[in-house]
Amino acid sequence: MAPKFKDYYEVLGVSRAATEAEIKLAYRRLARQHHPDLHSEKEKSFHTDRMKEVNEAYAVLSSKENRSKYDQLGESWKDGPPPSPRHERDGGGSSGPTDEAFSDFFRTLFRQSETQAEPNPVFQSELDIEAVLDISLEEAVRGVKKSFSLMTTGLCQNCHGTGRKGKTFCPVCGGVGEARRQREVTTKIPPGLTSGSRIRLKGQGNEGPQFRGDLYLTIRLLPHPKFKLDGMNLETNVRVMPWAAALGSSAAVPTLEGPVHLRVPKGTHTGTRLRLAGKGLGKTGERGDLFVRIEIDIPDSFSTKAEALLKQLEEEIHG
Ligand SMILES: [Zn+2]
Repeated sequence: MAPKFKDYYEVLGVSRAATEAEIKLAYRRLARQHHPDLHSEKEKSFHTDRMKEVNEAYAVLSSKENRSKYDQLGESWKDGPPPSPRHERDGGGSSGPTDEAFSDFFRTLFRQSETQAEPNPVFQSELDIEAVLDISLEEAVRGVKKSFSLMTTGLCQNCHGTGRKGKTFCPVCGGVGEARRQREVTTKIPPGLTSGSRIRLKGQGNEGPQFRGDLYLTIRLLPHPKFKLDGMNLETNVRVMPWAAALGSSAAVPTLEGPVHLRVPKGTHTGTRLRLAGKGLGKTGERGDLFVRIEIDIPDSFSTKAEALLKQLEEEIHG
């Protein structure tokens, strides 16, 4: 048996055509109305349950992606029961053992695949924050601990998010129930990330009346003075003297882990790309390569003796 369909529009008391602003307004109104601090012990559990429903409805309807998914399901629901989930939890689905904050219906709708370690539904709520974190290539390879500050929305501490102080509006937030706060976030960035990698920091988003959203960090790699980025591979230029290229030698090459010596084979031409395997980006064991592009260099000036030797060399080769 599939879980019972929930009409989230009805829960929030808005029409199916409601705008984002109307949904937000309805949510705030209900969040205030059911705030536990406003009710006696006896009535608390009723309002807590009601608030759970409101939070759930808002988590779905405040996100474009979730709302459209839900709306699609809603259409088919009109013609019959909602489609059965691919993996029915404990067969009945009426009292799932998992996350108490959300209904079975919600979990069915937003569940990730069963192979995921985390059974919680994945959805993006308005309380989530998206941010971009710039890191250097060295930090991307090694991993790094980063601290940064973030503007977040939290509950007004004067009225605990209710927007009211006794019978009047809270003078601090003007009845909105929210306050902007700067928060310091410190997090470990694991090694092996690349541009566009996303990290979810649970509970580091905005604070709502009942729960905190998450912070989603998208990694952006900073340009590097020595390395050009090509997917997981890196490229760098190294200059060698003509005689070193002609006779073969060893050249100092920068890598993200410091300089290494690279063997330059005898008779190397300008533009030759030599590969240092596993010195690119990525996780240990899966790292890309570093390509070293050889450029033949000429000293700015020669001594009289060196010039004479070069002349001799020219005559030797060209006759
Ligand atoms: Zn307030």
